[in-house]
Amino acid sequence: MHRFTTLLAALLVAGGTAMAAEYPDQPITVLVPHAAGGPTDTVARLVAESMSRTLGQQLLVENAGGAGSTLGTARAARAEPDGYTLLLNHVAQASSASLYRKLSYDPVAGFAGIGRITDVPMTIVARADFPPNAIAELLEYVRANKETVTYAHAGVGSASHLCGMLFMDAIDVPMTTVPYKGTGPAMTDLLGGQVDMMCDQTTNTVTQIKSGKIKGYAVTTKERLPVLPDLPTLDESGFAGFEMTVWHGLYAPAGTPQAILDKLSPALQVALQDPKVIERFAQLGTVPVPLDEATPAALDAHLKAEVAKWKPIIQAAGTYAD
Ligand code: ASP
Repeated sequence: MHRFTTLLAALLVAGGTAMAAEYPDQPITVLVPHAAGGPTDTVARLVAESMSRTLGQQLLVENAGGAGSTLGTARAARAEPDGYTLLLNHVAQASSASLYRKLSYDPVAGFAGIGRITDVPMTIVARADFPPNAIAELLEYVRANKETVTYAHAGVGSASHLCGMLFMDAIDVPMTTVPYKGTGPAMTDLLGGQVDMMCDQTTNTVTQIKSGKIKGYAVTTKERLPVLPDLPTLDESGFAGFEMTVWHGLYAPAGTPQAILDKLSPALQVALQDPKVIERFAQLGTVPVPLDEATPAALDAHLKAEVAKWKPIIQAAGTYAD
């Protein structure tokens, strides 16, 4: 019996190694737990295209938005750990651990990191015909009209929700919030004037701000951005210390063979050095992380640190999704 189980274990390992040697021999699904057309989707499509070239197989982005990324992430956690279903999520992977008290999966132990991708600045924006024209006017206007101003976000725990939470806390004015499955559809409503304001990644806002289709008021980084040089930082606008960037990571379900992770992580690193990716990221106000951050160990450590960082903030705010 003992010999039989040892033999079985040896066969399974041999099978896993053979599977990894051939990997990937079919297309890979990258689940993005946010709606199509939004900033996470944009990052995912750029990276997936480059990784497809390196791996010789298509990485197909599938959007599974809703509930602040937890619906799509739950799907990824349940997927076979065979390297053919991956997850690309942002800071919500960490914040959801505290915001949702009843998740069907463990956002940390349920996943194996492949690597961090990019840290994207955020912008405070509003519909084009929103009356205020600058950040100081915005504050005055929001304070005077707090009963009617609406704030769009991508669900509890999303980056836009967290930014809004910090911003409303900083100005001490609660606004009516409107949740979407991602800030792709939220942007559609902002452009259509159905909702007033949002705080979203530059990967979704730069083009619209530059073309005047929406108004930009401030950036959430400590420094101004080369791509939007006229926008002040919140830090310089009276909110000393206000800083938020949205980090993104690529994951596989826990249990994915190490040999497969060892193929995916270098392919991610190639993407982050791809001139096409770097150029498009720059146009959208971001840069890839340094390569030593684009590793499984660095992402796993970063995720744990971010869970610990957001926990007290969320507990203090007393906002839970359930
Ligand atoms: N920007 C969204 C968020 O607020 C996510 C997305 O739609 O990509 O989390």
